[in-house]
This record gives sequence, structure tokens and C-alpha cells, in this order.
Amino acid sequence: MVLKFGSGLKETFMKIAHMGKVDKEAVETIVRDVQRVLLQSDVNVALVSELSARIRKHMLEDKPPAGMTLRELFLKSLYDELVGLLGKEKAAMQLKRQRILLIGLFGSGKTTTAAKLGRWFKVRGLSVGLVACDVHRPAAQDQLRQLGQKLGIPVYSDGMGAEGIAKAALSAKEDVLIFDSAGRDALDGELANELKAMAKTIKPDETLLVMPADMGQDARRQSEEFSRLVGITGLIVTKMDGTAKGGGVLASASVTSAKVRFIGVGEKVEDFEEYDPNRFFSRLVGYGDIEGLLEKAKEAGFDEAKAKEVLEGEFTLEDFIEQTKAMKKMGSLSKVAEMIPGMGAMRLPAGQLEVQQEKMERWQHIISSMTKAERKDPELINAPRVKRIAKGSGTAEHDVREMLKYYKNVKKIVKVTKGGKAFRRGPLAKLAKQMGLKM
Ligand code: GDP
Ligand code: MG
Repeated sequence: MVLKFGSGLKETFMKIAHMGKVDKEAVETIVRDVQRVLLQSDVNVALVSELSARIRKHMLEDKPPAGMTLRELFLKSLYDELVGLLGKEKAAMQLKRQRILLIGLFGSGKTTTAAKLGRWFKVRGLSVGLVACDVHRPAAQDQLRQLGQKLGIPVYSDGMGAEGIAKAALSAKEDVLIFDSAGRDALDGELANELKAMAKTIKPDETLLVMPADMGQDARRQSEEFSRLVGITGLIVTKMDGTAKGGGVLASASVTSAKVRFIGVGEKVEDFEEYDPNRFFSRLVGYGDIEGLLEKAKEAGFDEAKAKEVLEGEFTLEDFIEQTKAMKKMGSLSKVAEMIPGMGAMRLPAGQLEVQQEKMERWQHIISSMTKAERKDPELINAPRVKRIAKGSGTAEHDVREMLKYYKNVKKIVKVTKGGKAFRRGPLAKLAKQMGLKM
């Protein structure tokens, strides 16, 4: 699926992950970035400004909880706010016997969605019947029949007029009956009356409004209008694949009482997904990239086993690269370093324990170009060896030297924490106890 909404947000998250310093100015830059992306996606201005205010407040007033850096707090609050904007939680459909009425304007995707939804229930083990109540457009019933045939789902279309067809279908034996309806260019009087009559006959368990994503923030007004007319219990947003305005629809829907149940992401019957704001958003911004950071934010603490390994074991170059790869562990290490009494001159400048992704990748190549002996004892690595390793790993000599220097610094910290007096007394002992280490 190609989503046009949100590509700018992914960049924003990467920017935070890589920026040098999280200060007031940096927060302001990011907030402006986010505002631009949201407004371009047609999210309501008032919602955007509320969200900005909350992010600023978090960042300028809240203290990060223990174990969380300011950067992680920033990522987390931005993430939470944006997910909240797109709908707080997922609103699942029940897998039970029920009648579902689909309503919406002409061309919004009702007929296609009837088939998609039918398939969704069918693959979950329920029997489904589709009811073709659009009697206004000549080809509408055929369109549904064809879709039903492809899916092996019966389509009911006998009866006089929309209401008559609906009534006749009510005696069908299937678990789930999905009623397709007609739409016009706008919500006119004739359509309104027909819908009311249909709803009265069907007595649907669910009345779902089908809306295309390019509707943007008008979604709210439209869903309120339909809601006044027949009452709606949920929304389906179609054509999320085709427009950057999808953010506007979702944000707009999240402030109405009817929640988005599904999104349509293409023309095929399988291009249909349950809408889960959290999952949707994490995929949008490339959750994998920030997963570690968010996880840490959630736990806001140490990974005991890993911390113990670092503190008690031999700290080899391989450990080093492992530790470096997972930035969250380096975060823990820098915490350890901070708490060592009298680190004085050895204390590393701020930020030195944070390594960028590209650098880590280069370092991994460097380490794999080393011999076993060199890995075991990096002291062996003299100038000619540096040259050879750089050549072998396709990096520069200064990259190799930088990596070795960094490794030595980290190793020094690890050594100091090992077995020293600091372990039995003082803040480090407390820390170790928190981590469950036996003294
Ligand atoms: P109706 O008039 O509300 O019944 O709308 P239709 O179901 O006939 O759909 C109108 C057009 O939108 C058709 O060409 C569908 O293929 C297309 N369509 C429906 N849902 C989606 C979707 O999620 N993505 C895309 N790209 N097209 C869709
Ligand atoms: Mg139709």
C-alpha cells in the first residue's frame, strides 16, 4: 500500500532521532515541521494548534522519567499526540450475527466496500449475504452481483424499490447481511427519505458511513449530517491510497462520536484493513526505526540481563558493537558513567555515547575486517593494521581510529564499574541493586 499522507512525519521522527541537541529551539523547529505536514494533509487548524501546544508543554515543562532521555521523551510525546489525533483506539467489529447498512455519497466506495466487508467476515468464518439496494444507478446491482460471485457470497436483489429489496432479504439465513445503498452528489431530500425508510425496515445493528479520504476535514460535517439523518455507528474511510488528505479525514473523524472501523487502501477486495490508529501510525512513520526508543520509553528502566552482562563480563569489541547497535543500552551506559563518583577527567562529553546509525554500520564493517586476534586484543592494531582494516572494510583510516578510541573510552567506564568500591557503596550500589545485581 502506498500512503501519501505522513511521509513528512517519518522524516520528522528521523530528524529528532539524529539531532544534536534537544533544546527549546529544536523543539520549535520540529513543532513547525509537524504543523506543516498536518496542515498539508488537511487536518483542522484548531486541532493542529492544540496538538502543538501540548507538545511544547510536555517538552518545556515535564521532566523525563527515570531512564528516559529528553530525546526519547520528545519522540514519545510526539508519537502519542499524533496517534491521539488520528483516533485514540481501535474500534473493532463484532464477529456475530448482524445487519449492516452502508451509507454515503455517490462514488464514495459503498458497493466496493460492501464486497470488501463481506469478504472480511467470510474469512473469519461467518456466512455473509450482500443486499443490492441501489436501484437508482442502472449498473449498481450488477456491480455487486459480480463482486459477490467472485467471492462466493450470495447477492439478494429481488423486490420493489430499495425498501422492498431490503425487506425481502431480511429472511435470508446468512449470519451477516450487508445492505448496499444509493448515493447522490449531495444529500438531497429524496435520498434522505429513502435512507430513513430503509433504516426503519432493516433495523441495522451497525450503520456505517463510507467516506473517501480526499474529503479531508469535511468528513466531520458530513458524518454529523448523516448522523442526524439515520444515526451512524461507525465510519469506513476509502481511497486512503490515493490522497495526502487522509490525515484530515482521520483527525476529523476522531472528534466525532463514530469511530473509523476500516480503511480502504485500493480497488481490490483485499485492499481493506481494520483501522487501528496505533498500528496505522507506526507503519506510517516507520515504527521499526524508533521501536527501540519507544520501548525504552515505555519501560523507562534498565534491561537487567544486558546491564549485568556489561557490568560483569569481559567487554569485547563484539560486545561493544552489540551495545552500540542498541542505542538504548548506550543510554544505560552513559547513566552508569554519570553515577560513578569521581569520574572527573574521564567523564565523557555529553552526546559522546550516542552514535549515529551510519557510523554504527561503518563500525560493523570495520570489526568484520579485523582478524580474530585483533578483535580479542585491539591493542595489537598499529598503523599498518589500521590501513589494512580501512581498506578491507571500505572505510577511511580515521574511521577505524575513531571506532577504536570510542571503544577504549567505553571500556574504561565498564572497567571502573567492575568490582570497584563504588559498587558496594554510594549511588552506583543503589543502581546495581535496582538492576537486581548481587553485591
Ligand atoms: P459507490 O458509488 O459509493 O458505490 O462507490 P463504488 O464502490 O462504486 O466505488 C467508486 C470507485 O471508487 C470505483 O472505481 C472503485 O473501484 C473505487 N474505490 C473504492 N474504494 C477504493 C479504495 O479504497 N481505493 C481506491 N483506489 N479506489 C477505490
Ligand atoms: Mg454503489
